[in-house]
Amino acid sequence: ILNRSEAIQKARLKLPILSEEQAIMEAINENSVIVIVGTTGSGKTTQVPQFLYEAGYARNGKMIGITEPRRVAAISMSQRVGYEMNLTSHEVSYQIRFEGNTTPDTQIKFMTDGVLLKEIQLDPTLKKYSVIIIDEAHERSIFSDILIGILSRIIPVRLAKGKPLKLIIMSATLRVEDFTENIRLFKNPKPPVLKVEARMFDVTIHYNKRTLEDYLEEAYKKACKIHRQLPEGGILVFLTGQQEVNTLVKKLRRTFPMQKTEAEYEGSKVSAFRKRRCEMKQKRKLTADTTKKIVLPEIKLDDFVSALPDDADMDIAEDAHQDVGNDSDLDLGDDIDEIEGHGLSKHKELEQPMWVLPLYSVLPPDRQQMVFQPPPEGTRLCIVATNVAETSLTIPNVKYVVDSGKVKEKVYDKTTGVSMFHVTWTSQASANQRAGRAGRTAPGHCYRLYSSAVFNDEFQTFSPAEIQQRPIDDIVLIMKSMKLPVINFPFPTPPDYLQIRSSMKRLTILGALKESVVPIKGVPPTKIRRKDIKDLTYITALGKAMAAFPLAPRYGKMLALSHQHSLLPYTVAIVAALTIPEVLLETPVGLQQSVKDTQKQWHNLRLSWAGVGNSRLLGDVMVLLRCIGAAEFQGGDRTWCEKNGLRHKAITEIRKLRRQLTNEINLLIPSCDIALNPKMPPTSDEQALLLRQIVLSGLIDHVARRVDDWEIKDPADKAKWKYAYRTQELEEPVFLPSSSVLRVYMPQWVVYQDIYETHKMFMRNVTVIEPQWLAVFAPELCSFT
Ligand code: ADP
Ligand code: MG
Repeated sequence: ILNRSEAIQKARLKLPILSEEQAIMEAINENSVIVIVGTTGSGKTTQVPQFLYEAGYARNGKMIGITEPRRVAAISMSQRVGYEMNLTSHEVSYQIRFEGNTTPDTQIKFMTDGVLLKEIQLDPTLKKYSVIIIDEAHERSIFSDILIGILSRIIPVRLAKGKPLKLIIMSATLRVEDFTENIRLFKNPKPPVLKVEARMFDVTIHYNKRTLEDYLEEAYKKACKIHRQLPEGGILVFLTGQQEVNTLVKKLRRTFPMQKTEAEYEGSKVSAFRKRRCEMKQKRKLTADTTKKIVLPEIKLDDFVSALPDDADMDIAEDAHQDVGNDSDLDLGDDIDEIEGHGLSKHKELEQPMWVLPLYSVLPPDRQQMVFQPPPEGTRLCIVATNVAETSLTIPNVKYVVDSGKVKEKVYDKTTGVSMFHVTWTSQASANQRAGRAGRTAPGHCYRLYSSAVFNDEFQTFSPAEIQQRPIDDIVLIMKSMKLPVINFPFPTPPDYLQIRSSMKRLTILGALKESVVPIKGVPPTKIRRKDIKDLTYITALGKAMAAFPLAPRYGKMLALSHQHSLLPYTVAIVAALTIPEVLLETPVGLQQSVKDTQKQWHNLRLSWAGVGNSRLLGDVMVLLRCIGAAEFQGGDRTWCEKNGLRHKAITEIRKLRRQLTNEINLLIPSCDIALNPKMPPTSDEQALLLRQIVLSGLIDHVARRVDDWEIKDPADKAKWKYAYRTQELEEPVFLPSSSVLRVYMPQWVVYQDIYETHKMFMRNVTVIEPQWLAVFAPELCSFT
């Protein structure tokens, strides 16, 4: 019935998976669960959904569902498959958090793993689907892992109903024992593993003799050398994040320009920054007002909005997780528009131009699509990518791979949940995946910018599963709201006891759970195994309300409480601003002169945004709130933003997120009926007071107290402790950064969004609280041991 074009048919026949179609379809007809292992580029993602479609899995109103850990893959693969099948996006669609093009006619649905988890909360047996494909299972994304666990329980239920649901787990590596050899997950018979052997050409590995610090510079040199000295063929460079990618793209374009107009030189000249006179009013007496009368909290913690009736049996909750940072390469930085202009120099006429393209997951889909097209005549293709290009997207005609060996990871402290981005060595397995990208169509070369000794001694064999690396608060809350047993859940790789316990502790402090995990008497905490734990926690009504919002639990709580006093539009804006990284710029862009002056102006502007009274006490959070209002009021264009110290891209993302969140809330809880007014009138003093309490309610586990002079024993240490605070969870002090508008005021009690580490540990986005609020907002804080 499908009407594929001849060119597509020809291209498909070249894919190794095509010869396995029959074996795959037989295996899935005979088994509930199968595992397909196939080299990247063998055709798993694009072809298996088509096999299923042609075998009738999309008939009778049922869908074929495919999950991807990355948003970019969900979008790009749905487009590709639709194109290959000659079907529209109404039939082959995608859904990522807040965005999608599914219709009632959708037959093949690509989605992020978090979206499917949310669907299970609404439809526990996934009635709409005949088959689910978990793609890229080797990445061991936390949501994919949980989904496999849940699906292992849905499958027998569907089988018993006589309406079987099939599960296909697809992996690019052979390391699938966690799924196949795990009897808690799939009892006998074990799911069969089908292997797709892609014909791979030899890739010669070249190690650097020495491992140099500056891999960005090394990558640049290596790409230049390849381009100047080696035969034609595409280059693929692996770096860690968007900013690095953009930097290298710019540099390579400048070195091997496409066109040689002089005009582009002019673009970089920025007209003198007009001196802006700032009201210095705010500088005056920002001193503590000690006689302030005690204000009792007015935000009532038992007054929240919920999407559910009280006694709902199956609980609704959203994918609380995909914080903006789901994709590991999500990064801040240069706006892509900036690197648009190809080329500058006119002295490089003799060199072959290089067609340099960036690739990372927040790149808009049409830009991503460019990597699949052949480069312009007479140029060499060079793609500078993050690890998106490792397995989820296959770029044609790559002959040379340049591998930094690095990966950017969010590293969490298991107990405290403090997170930091770290650039570390990737695993041997991923380095080999990267190298493999060079041998798809012909023999290739991989240049590793590190020594073989480093590879052998310092690289881990495999990257660990995500679930063992990050806090699982969101997962625990979702599982609790779905009445799933957290302790005895069939995780492919179980989280450890400490992790479960600290997540439950944070959720308890947030008021989402009650009671605690009780270890069996007499077992020392270090020796506790899962079978020794009894989970006595249960989800509270507030916890259910929190789980209903498509955000991390703490932001869900802020929103759930904000229908009081009509605060929702403000909280939506605050939450949006808190989840988008680096809204405020630190250093001026494109300005040669007076960097210091500009920074000073920005700081004064921020002080004026903070305002006075409770507004000022809302602190850095008020600055975020006001800067959004100001940017929208001014039309929010790039020039205005950059002039006033705001990252333009962040402002546009916040606008989008506010709209999406507003729609989502109105959909979930029609009684809220909030309107989106982008410009937002400034808050009244009372609203600001209430917002301080709302912020406290969500950051209740992030309270800090100023270190007072009497606590410093050695007077010589005074300077060192100048901006120091004590937190509940860390031994060492944390500091109020100079970017905070509260520095001039040094309040005694604060809450912070999170802690980041540079040369010291700093608190991000700080708000002043009143200590007497704590007893009301966090009774658990005092009683928890
Ligand atoms: P796998 O999932 O096994 O890694 P894929 O199904 O993603 O393999 O890729 C199969 C082939 O389809 C690859 O050669 C890849 O280059 C090609 N392909 C995938 N997406 C596109 C696209 N958007 N445009 C052109 N070719 C594509
Ligand atoms: Mg794939």
